[in-house]
Amino acid sequence: MARYSGPVCRLCRRQGSKIFLKGDRCYTDKCSLERRPSEPGKSAQAKRIKKLTNYGIQLREKQKMKNMYGLLERQFSNLFKKAEQKHGITGDNFIQFLERRLDNVIFRLGFANSRAKARQMVRHSHILVNGKKVNIPSYMVEIGDVVEVKEKSQSISEFKELKQEETNKNVPSWLDAEMTKLRGTVVKLPSKEDIDLPIDEKLVVEYYSR
Ligand code: SF4
Repeated sequence: MARYSGPVCRLCRRQGSKIFLKGDRCYTDKCSLERRPSEPGKSAQAKRIKKLTNYGIQLREKQKMKNMYGLLERQFSNLFKKAEQKHGITGDNFIQFLERRLDNVIFRLGFANSRAKARQMVRHSHILVNGKKVNIPSYMVEIGDVVEVKEKSQSISEFKELKQEETNKNVPSWLDAEMTKLRGTVVKLPSKEDIDLPIDEKLVVEYYSR
């Protein structure tokens, strides 16, 4: 199945919750969901009447998580299988695998204002990991990895602007960001507590365990 390429705010309205796909706009009152909360093509009243089954609730949560990270179903379910095979709690493993993707790390460091933009930066070869070019968005970072915007790319205007921001207080504790160098280090692996996601991953585990 192809990646969804329509207006991204429709995905939030369909889910009935914010999945933060439009960068800074998501945090303002220009957010389409806040302005028009009903499902696309349905009135608010019709939406209220609709009652979801357990399966529907699990499916909706799975779709929300998949859309939030911008993955295709196959990529998402393969990562879930990997999480199941790993020792520990499947839901926690799954969140950790999703967070450790290079595109997500670029987004979390604040070098891009959405995961879609971060993915594009990686694909366009602007990113180095431990001094080597990595253009694979699904690359999994490890503890100690140094992720940075290539020196040559730092002269591009959007990166120049970013370098002016000396700190970024939204960077999670598992990453250390040096904004003036457009560089970040993975100081530990992310745990559920490090990540404030409006997601119930247990519902996603239930969905795939049917
Ligand atoms: Fe979703 Fe962001 Fe659009 Fe709001 S602005 S509906 S959070 S993508």
